[in-house]
Amino acid sequence: MADTKYIFVTGGVVSSLGKGILSASLGKLLQSRGFKVTIQKFDPYINIDPGTLNPYEHGECYVCSDGHEADLDLGHYERFLNVPTTKANNFTTGRIYQNVIQKERHGDYLGKTVQVIPHITDEIKRCVRSIASKNKFDIVITEIGGTVGDIESLPFIESVRQLKWELGKNCFCIHLAYLPYLSTTKELKTKPVQHSVKQLQELGVQPDALVLRTEHPINQDIRKKVALFCNVAEEAVVECIDAPSIYEVPLFMQREGLDRIVLEKLGLPTDTFSDMEPWKQFLDKLKKATKPVRIGLVGKYAELSDAYKSIIESLNHAAVYNDRKLELELIHSQYITETNVNQKLAGLDGVVVAPGFGSRGIDGKIISLKYTRENNIPTLGICLGMQCMVIEFARNVLGYPEANSTEMDPSTPKNVIDIMEDQKNISDYGGTMRLGNYECRLDKTSRAYKAYGKEKIQERHRHRFEFNDKFRAEFESAGMKCTGTNPETNLVEMIEMPELKWYIGCQFHPEYNSTVLKPNPLFLDFIKVCSQA
Ligand code: GLN
Repeated sequence: MADTKYIFVTGGVVSSLGKGILSASLGKLLQSRGFKVTIQKFDPYINIDPGTLNPYEHGECYVCSDGHEADLDLGHYERFLNVPTTKANNFTTGRIYQNVIQKERHGDYLGKTVQVIPHITDEIKRCVRSIASKNKFDIVITEIGGTVGDIESLPFIESVRQLKWELGKNCFCIHLAYLPYLSTTKELKTKPVQHSVKQLQELGVQPDALVLRTEHPINQDIRKKVALFCNVAEEAVVECIDAPSIYEVPLFMQREGLDRIVLEKLGLPTDTFSDMEPWKQFLDKLKKATKPVRIGLVGKYAELSDAYKSIIESLNHAAVYNDRKLELELIHSQYITETNVNQKLAGLDGVVVAPGFGSRGIDGKIISLKYTRENNIPTLGICLGMQCMVIEFARNVLGYPEANSTEMDPSTPKNVIDIMEDQKNISDYGGTMRLGNYECRLDKTSRAYKAYGKEKIQERHRHRFEFNDKFRAEFESAGMKCTGTNPETNLVEMIEMPELKWYIGCQFHPEYNSTVLKPNPLFLDFIKVCSQA
C-alpha cells in the first residue's frame, strides 16, 4: 500500500481566518480526485473537549457519530467531505495531557521523567498517525487551532516540525495568513504575513504553500514579494479572497491550483480527473435560488450565529434543494413576550426552536411555540426545542399550568420532561450525556416517515432529559403524537401534531447529519412545506 500523506494547516496574523474551511476545501478537492481523505483538528486549550464550553466562548459544540463532543470545524469537515468524524478527528491539549498522565499512572513510561518533549509531542504525533493507520486514509489533513506565536500551540508546532522531518516527501505544510488592506493608501500589506512565517520558521517549520486571506485580489508583485521573503515557490502563494458562500472556496482553491501544488509536492499524480460536478451543481442551484423562504430561529444565542452553525447550514442546504434562498432571522428568545410575539414572528414561513441548556430564554421559546401552534406556522423543535413543544402543549392544551422539565423546575408535579434513568447518578458534566448515534423507529403514518422515506433512521443526540412516558397516552389523545421511538429503550425521539401543517419536534439533532451533497431529510421536508406558504 502507498504511504499515507500528511498535510498540516497552520494559521497566522489573526485568528478566525477560516482554517477549517480551507482544510475542508482542500480535502474536498483531493477527495474529488478519488483519494480517501480525513481531516482532524488539534485545539490548544485545556478543556478535555468542547462539550463543557459555553457557546459564547467557542460557538457550537458539534457532535460526531460516535458521540464525541467536538469543535465546530468538524461540522465543516463533514459537510464538505460527507464522511462521518469520530473522536480521532479532534484533540485538545487537555486530552493529550490526559492520555499522557493516564499512561504515566499506568507505569508505561518505566520510571522516566515525563516531559513536554518528548512525551507530549510523541502523543500528538501518535494521534496524527493513528487515524491513518486505523482507517487506511490516503491523505490526512491536520488543522492546528490557534495562531502561530501562541504559547499554548508550541507543542503542536514542534510536533509538526518533527513529523515533517520524519515524513519527508510525504508531508506538506500550508500556512494561512491574513493580508491586511490599508484603505487610506489602497494597498495590501505583506509585512504581517512575513512576520508570521518568520515565527513559524523560528520554530523550525518551513511552509510549502502560503494561502493569503484577503479582501482584495492580489497581484503578481505581491506573490513575488511574499515568495521571496518567505522561501515559498511563487506558484505556491495562493490567494484566498472572501467568497460569497463558504461552499465556493473549494473552487477558488482549485482555480489557484492549490490541489495540484500539494499533489506535485507529495509525489501523487496530478493528471487524475477531479469530479467536482455534483458540487458545482449545488453551487449553481444556490446562485439561481432567488425566491426567499423566511425562517426564524428562536434561541438564546441569537446574537451569535456560530452557536447554531450546523442548524443554519442545514437550513441552507435544504433551501437550495428546494430552489429557495434562505432568509434567516435569528430571534432572541429572551426578549419574546406574549405581547410582542406576533411582531417578532411576523412574516415568517417557518420557525425553528433551538436546542439549549438551562432556563434562560425558555419562556420566549414556549410563547413562540404557542403562537406557531395556534397559527399553524410550520415549526421544527430540536432537542430542547422539542421539550418546549411538549411543555407548551401540556400547559395550554392539557391544562397543566405547572408542567415543566425537571431541568428547569426539579419539583414540578407535572414533570412532562424528566431526567433519564441512567443519568440520575451522574455528577460529572463532561461527556456524560446521551451522546451520538441512536436508532429511531418511525410510525409509518407520520409526517416524519414521509420525510425520511424509511422506518428506521439514525440521528445524533446530546441530551440528559427526555419525554416522560407516563404522560404519553394523554398527549396522544389530545393530538400530540409520539411518532418516533428508540426501538431498544422506547424513549420518545419525535413528536408531531398531524392536524397541523408541519409541527414536529425531535429529541435528536438532525443538523449534525446534513451535508452539501446529502441534505438532511427532515430539514428538506420542513423547508418544502415552508416554501409552499
Ligand atoms: N437541556 C436539554 C437536555 O439536556 C436539551 C439539550 C439540548 O437541547 N441539546 O435534555
